[in-house]
Amino acid sequence: MSLAEIGATANGGVCRLALTDEEIAARRLLIDWAEALGLSVFTDDIGNLFFRLAGSDPEAAPVVTGSHIDTQPTGGKFDGAYGVVAGFEAVEAMLDAGAAPTRSVEVVAWVNEEGSRFSPGMMGSEAFTSRRPIAQILEVTDADGITTAAALEAVLAASPNLERREFGTPIAAFIEAHIEQGPVLERNGVPVGVVTGIQGSRRFRVEVNGEAGHAGTQPMAERRDALLAALRIVDALRATFAPDDAKFTVGLFDVTPNVPSVVPSRAYFSIDLRHPDQATLARLGDAIAAVCADHAAPCAARIKEIATSESLEFPEAIRATIAAAADTLDIPAIPILSLAGHDARQLHYHCPTGMIFTPCKDGVSHNEAESATPADLAAGTRVLAATLVKLATDV
Ligand SMILES: [Zn+2]
Repeated sequence: MSLAEIGATANGGVCRLALTDEEIAARRLLIDWAEALGLSVFTDDIGNLFFRLAGSDPEAAPVVTGSHIDTQPTGGKFDGAYGVVAGFEAVEAMLDAGAAPTRSVEVVAWVNEEGSRFSPGMMGSEAFTSRRPIAQILEVTDADGITTAAALEAVLAASPNLERREFGTPIAAFIEAHIEQGPVLERNGVPVGVVTGIQGSRRFRVEVNGEAGHAGTQPMAERRDALLAALRIVDALRATFAPDDAKFTVGLFDVTPNVPSVVPSRAYFSIDLRHPDQATLARLGDAIAAVCADHAAPCAARIKEIATSESLEFPEAIRATIAAAADTLDIPAIPILSLAGHDARQLHYHCPTGMIFTPCKDGVSHNEAESATPADLAAGTRVLAATLVKLATDV
């Protein structure tokens, strides 16, 4: 709730965009918390913040937990912030309990997960894991033309004494706690979800080109109606994806010239395709071009893939450790698939990674009304703490 005061909106939400004055204030608060707990604080060249509870073996790679503190413009109190605060709470609990982990335990706040000011998001975790080159990230500008590099300089200058860490330092395991942002846990009355993986997506744009004509005089058989061709393609895609129960959405559809008495010369539409199984996602996405070609005649279709992210499955060992922690604490937990992306998506390619979900009210997120109960958040944090202790102690 203290963190949510920074960037608080009149409607009870939070607007704390990446690399702003609000974020500088929020970082100051985290640093204060860390210093009060005796943690050492590090940053890196993209501004990720790491808070370290030293283990007995300083050479051993740390166990890391955390999420992000930036929000959408009309965001809530819990998306991202919960994972960071839960990390602090877990570390504080370890200190209170006199835990003596072998590995260091670190809390991280990854920079710009949301991507609403500087797009795309996940800049901090992508830079750290070298999934995207830092030079490319620093060039990104916001709506006012300010570069990430310039905004970042101000953020780093606000805490000039922090030790800088290299990107890609070894991590023994990464565990991200996050609100579910969907309704599954709440509907099942279960406080904790052991996340099995993250659903991937492929996004395309299709342009169908035909020829304009007079709606009254041009014979039907001679028309090259781009809209009718696009509708055939969309229906054929629906039939292609249906057996695999893929999520298929055409959310953008544009017709040219879009007037009542002219045969459409051009249709332009989006395809958003998602499936939790990567092999299925790849196969279905690869089938789109042929479906377009088969159903475009007498028009011509052009297809372009504009974004892709793989479906991934977190390692069984990490999932089992989280599930065992919940079991030991007598906290009900169920497996759950993440339908949204998270920093854990990037860390998955760097170290053994897992996620813990907690319910949020009515599944609402990216919304000022985002809410969660203290009891559910505490349950998730207890499971997180037990998981971290296990991973940091059994070396
Ligand atoms: Zn988030």
